[in-house]
Amino acid sequence: MNYSIGWLMANDGFECACGKRHYGLLKDCIIGENALLRLPEMLRKYGGTHPFILCDTLTYEAAGKAVTELLKKENISYTIHIIERIHPAPDEKIVGEAVMYCDEKCDIVVAVGGGVINDTCKILAAAKKVTDIYVATAPSMDGFASASSSMERGGLKVSLNSKCPDVVIGDAEILAAAPTHMIRSGIGDMIAKYVSIVEWQIAALLLGEYYCPTVAEIVRASLDVCVKVAKDAVNGDHDAVCKLTEGLVMSGLAMNYAGISRPASGMEHYISHIIDMRALEFGTPADLHGIQCGMATLLTVQAYEKLMQITPDKEKALAYVNGFSLDGWFEHLRAQLGHGAEAMIAGERKEKKYDAEKHAARLEKILDHWDEIRRIAGELPSSAGLREFFVSIGHLTSGKDFGLTENELREAFLMAKDIRDKYVIGRMLWDFGILEEFADAIEY
Ligand SMILES: [Zn+2]
Ligand SMILES: [Zn+2]
Repeated sequence: MNYSIGWLMANDGFECACGKRHYGLLKDCIIGENALLRLPEMLRKYGGTHPFILCDTLTYEAAGKAVTELLKKENISYTIHIIERIHPAPDEKIVGEAVMYCDEKCDIVVAVGGGVINDTCKILAAAKKVTDIYVATAPSMDGFASASSSMERGGLKVSLNSKCPDVVIGDAEILAAAPTHMIRSGIGDMIAKYVSIVEWQIAALLLGEYYCPTVAEIVRASLDVCVKVAKDAVNGDHDAVCKLTEGLVMSGLAMNYAGISRPASGMEHYISHIIDMRALEFGTPADLHGIQCGMATLLTVQAYEKLMQITPDKEKALAYVNGFSLDGWFEHLRAQLGHGAEAMIAGERKEKKYDAEKHAARLEKILDHWDEIRRIAGELPSSAGLREFFVSIGHLTSGKDFGLTENELREAFLMAKDIRDKYVIGRMLWDFGILEEFADAIEY
């Protein structure tokens, strides 16, 4: 099957062999030349008579101004609020501003910006129960069409259920004018899918997690498109930037289809989360989400490459877990992450993944399925090939490039497995008793 955004939009709500009926939730997706001109038509289609427009200082210049001019021309009244900050944080302040400036007469929300503005408007539109139209200003991440918002609440990174935008508008000229670093970020966020698809299959194999081969195929198709157009997209080619944006929308739809984040994120996203958590707590360096996920994919792929070369050693694994101090590990998390560690510690108290008996059972399963795990991981690109690809499009290949130290990156690799109750390679390395030696061997 040749999956494309057109196919997905035309076949929404299809019955799948996995037993689920897959819904995308996105009602209209307009990506291409002059896409913005169709905003008035979308407002009319969804019964919006007085839109509330949210943007920030930069995205006002990129597209917000054009949106207001278009609405004036069409005699559509509106309320606009410009967040007077460069790169506002996705926190209580921006959500509060959105709520407080969205007055009574606003019956439809128009988000004009990148991920933060989109995520904020998803929350606002969900709370007000109104239609949400997203005018994208950069193809920088894959959250366009997902039904959740990646936020910072009380200084902690959280993923909040919100809503999928009803309409996504991606105007070729606006998207192509986005800073190249943001375009590369979108590519990095897609490259992460190599790992997420592999880890999803491994989790299904070892833990019986829900898995849908069709959704995995859709993600692979969108990833292929993004890789093919990457170079031209970075150079600002309109067609390539539109294809990249379609790929990002497809990835978000795939998450909606599965109802879980598995198709779109794995170990590499958790490494990125650790970097974000430390940045929030201690002010350490961080970069765009997709840039971090891209370079963390390179670390994760290296780990898989090394893992495929080992001969599993059951005695070593059991001895390692026998000598493991859970309290010692909790102290380590607290020292490295500050109060962000508490949610991870509470997660472990509930999940008990480090329990010796649970480990022994899991280890047996891994050993029983070792050949199958190796076959699944064979789907990954080589780390050398991936590095070459990143260099060819000017994407960062190391966290050191944005100021992190080797030790900070090594620690992020060690702690990533504790972020969520998801089986990722960090956990398998721990299960084999080789996590630290792998962390030492990786090229950061
Ligand atoms: Zn399915
Ligand atoms: Zn992502």
